[in-house]
Amino acid sequence: MKKLLATKMILVEELVDSIKGRLLDKIVKDQGSIYKKSPRFCPECDSKDVVGVEIMGARNEVLLWECEDCYEMFLKYEAEETELDLQEAKSYWTNKNDWGCIPRSKQN
Ligand SMILES: [Zn+2]
Repeated sequence: MKKLLATKMILVEELVDSIKGRLLDKIVKDQGSIYKKSPRFCPECDSKDVVGVEIMGARNEVLLWECEDCYEMFLKYEAEETELDLQEAKSYWTNKNDWGCIPRSKQN
């Protein structure tokens, strides 16, 4: 059986202790490697537990990969593209009115 890609959804502020400055530098160590598809093994520790991470307020799909063992994060898109998405998403949590406005059920 094919294993479904596990994903989780989080806020930018859960990833960084401060949303000032370039966010990607606080999240992804290796910004030179891009994994279009989920890496089968964590490039850092060889764990198989790599999940997709959706960032609330960013795009409605996986933006980053995260290893559930070493918590290292990896890029799915170009670093600059990802940074732009993160910058856009960081204001999301402050707009409480936005909460619940885009439930997944309405995306169909
Ligand atoms: Zn790992």
